[in-house]
Amino acid sequence: MDNLWTENIRKVEPYVPGEQSKEKDIIKLNANENPYPPSPKVFEAVKNFDCAGLKLYPDADAGKFKEAIARFYHIKKENVFVGNGSDDVLALSFQTFFNSEKPIVFPDITYSFYPVWCELFKIPYKTCPLGGDFRINADDYKEENGGVVIPNPNAPTSLGEGKGFIEKLMEYNKDCVVIIDEAYVDFGGYSSVELTEKYENLLITCTFSKSRSLAGMRIGYAIGSEKLIASLEAVKNSYNSYTVNSIAMAAGTAAINDKEYFNKTVSKVIKTRERVKKELRKLGFEVLDSQTNFLMATHREKDMKEYFEYLKTQKVFIRYFNKPRINSYVRITIGTDKEMDIFLEKTKEYLGRF
Ligand code: PMP
Repeated sequence: MDNLWTENIRKVEPYVPGEQSKEKDIIKLNANENPYPPSPKVFEAVKNFDCAGLKLYPDADAGKFKEAIARFYHIKKENVFVGNGSDDVLALSFQTFFNSEKPIVFPDITYSFYPVWCELFKIPYKTCPLGGDFRINADDYKEENGGVVIPNPNAPTSLGEGKGFIEKLMEYNKDCVVIIDEAYVDFGGYSSVELTEKYENLLITCTFSKSRSLAGMRIGYAIGSEKLIASLEAVKNSYNSYTVNSIAMAAGTAAINDKEYFNKTVSKVIKTRERVKKELRKLGFEVLDSQTNFLMATHREKDMKEYFEYLKTQKVFIRYFNKPRINSYVRITIGTDKEMDIFLEKTKEYLGRF
């Protein structure tokens, strides 16, 4: 029998991220990381970082870093919040804004961390089924809600919604906070940052992990009205004042200031994505029209779990979700052209053999 004290331990089912294999020479297309290194300006910033300064706490307000982000978006520093990856920013936002007795709502197929935070923070929630085409219907979010959270583009579907959709969502949800998770937006989605001036209850969360190749640095941020950002700051300062470390701020500032490199690498990923999408379709796959750095694909004649497992034996890691509605799909992160050529070669090999 367990000891009585174990009864008081919080029992949760954690989020499971894409596998980080220790194997060498694998082609890693399973965690939506960027295949390109960060900007050379980041290398320089980290190399020249004054380590002696690490004896001091970082600037708790992350003032200079927030200013750099604000400059990029032509907004004010007071409209920016920074955290330790957008998971950290989202978790804090759930705690800060979702305190109603009414359930918060999000799509049934979406980022699987949302229900995990709801369980952890005891936030009631309900899900709205995506349409048969995997699109989100704004009319499903009309009822009174305790809050709304939607990734745009959505993950793992890769599909994005436009300005009209967001405006509708905001019209329906005037009495709660609406969070739009824009982790993948830079790869071709519509960004609602421009709408944060119009809607005081709209919060956008973003990350340096995808389009800025800094997943290992753990930097995320939120953009919203001064009121929302001040509330986030207050909760953060009741929990951990120094979320973003000094090296991360130096690297993040260098990355956001290098627009040219950002545009170049994002374009490369998009170009490769479009090529791979066409190739997969030629091979008989159905592939959704992605606005992200990954593809969601299925094949009518093949078992996607078997395909995923075959690729793994060939050292090509993609993602398979054993979940209702999406268990006949795989999610493929876009790698370099060379990596994707190997992926396509192994895919052809699989189709010929099974
Ligand atoms: N939102 C979505 C939709 C994601 O897929 C991810 C990446 N797993 C995140 C947020 C979090 O990214 P990060 O914590 O690296 O910023």
